[in-house]
Amino acid sequence: MWPVRRMASTMSASSAALRFDLIAKCSTTRARASVMTLPHGPVNLPLFMPVATQASLKGITPEQLEDTGCRLCLNNTYHLGLKPGQEVLDAVGGAHKLQGWKHNILTDSGGFQMVSLLKLATVTEEGVRFLSPHDGTPMLLTPEHSISLQNSIGSDIIMQLDDVLVTTSPDLARMREAMERSVRWLDRCIAAHKNPHSQNMFCIIQGGLDLDMRRECCREMVARDTPGIAIGGLSGGEAKDDFCRVVAACTEQLPDLKPRYVMGIGYPEDLVVSVALGADMFDCVWPTRTARFGNAITKHGMLNMKREMFAADFGPIEEGCGCACCRPIEEEGAMGITRAFVHHNAAKETVAAHLLTIHNVYYQLNLMREAREAIIEDKYPAFVKEFFARLYPDRQSFPSWAVSALRGVGIDLLET
Ligand SMILES: [Zn+2]
Repeated sequence: MWPVRRMASTMSASSAALRFDLIAKCSTTRARASVMTLPHGPVNLPLFMPVATQASLKGITPEQLEDTGCRLCLNNTYHLGLKPGQEVLDAVGGAHKLQGWKHNILTDSGGFQMVSLLKLATVTEEGVRFLSPHDGTPMLLTPEHSISLQNSIGSDIIMQLDDVLVTTSPDLARMREAMERSVRWLDRCIAAHKNPHSQNMFCIIQGGLDLDMRRECCREMVARDTPGIAIGGLSGGEAKDDFCRVVAACTEQLPDLKPRYVMGIGYPEDLVVSVALGADMFDCVWPTRTARFGNAITKHGMLNMKREMFAADFGPIEEGCGCACCRPIEEEGAMGITRAFVHHNAAKETVAAHLLTIHNVYYQLNLMREAREAIIEDKYPAFVKEFFARLYPDRQSFPSWAVSALRGVGIDLLET
């Protein structure tokens, strides 16, 4: 059931384990600000979710992750299912307890990991067949098994198993098969889900770059009334123009009072544009992965901290950033962490990877916090223009895909 009620200016809807309050809508673009209340507390949308692959964000502790402001992170079902495995998860009482994380967790279905990590994975109507990376024995991930694993993990948001194809696949017949199979698998996932009162299942819209197929998939998935909706299969090497067209075609058809999650994207420009197109949630390994290569994400673009120019730079990674690495230390005479220190250790010692991970996760979360404030004040178009102007001081170099996607929702980036 999905009762809708109207309060002063907020529109709300709730299911057994999720409450969605739509706080504000941009009067120009399709951007929205909302609160999604999950079993482990409320989270503000739009939101970036960092990916903690092995039930830990490589290099940082749960306390440090909490300190970035993160209240919803992503775990990989595939990795947790292999190690520690379902028995241990059941014994400990789920992933929250396993990793000492008291806030929310979202898990993927495991299907995408399999198809992308294991070259020998094949998809049949039954499920995804693959060879165990441990001992080579044949294994099968079915919709039922994925949901059973996610029930043992106890994540606040669980994802349906879907049939994922790279969007650039030229095989339209196979694309249609994958889209239709994903709908059939959603029905099997819903039937297998043991904890609908404490865990929220999101469906995943498929259909490649074919907008009619995406629209058809939206209709089928929306009819099944899951607590949230994901747009899947993107970030697979398609042109950014195509990516934006798919996101816009889907959000246009989705109900207002459910969270919308675009899977697998994380570049700051992609987030800012996708929010304008009406998306609320995002995840990507890129911010943490690039930290381990010595890169800092900043308002003015990426900084490669290995570059010699930082050897004697005693400023913070990013001036004005509120993360634990950049914020000034209040004790008199104390200095914060310097660029020189990060440079000295970058891509050599793990300490630099930890510091940059904290900074990059904070940057992403803060970008979405600022976007949210701008939407609430109904100043999102100005926020977007400022964001691009800082990132590309020369307006001639604005990415053309962003210019045209934003023009589609009423923002002219090139207007002076
Ligand atoms: Zn910082």
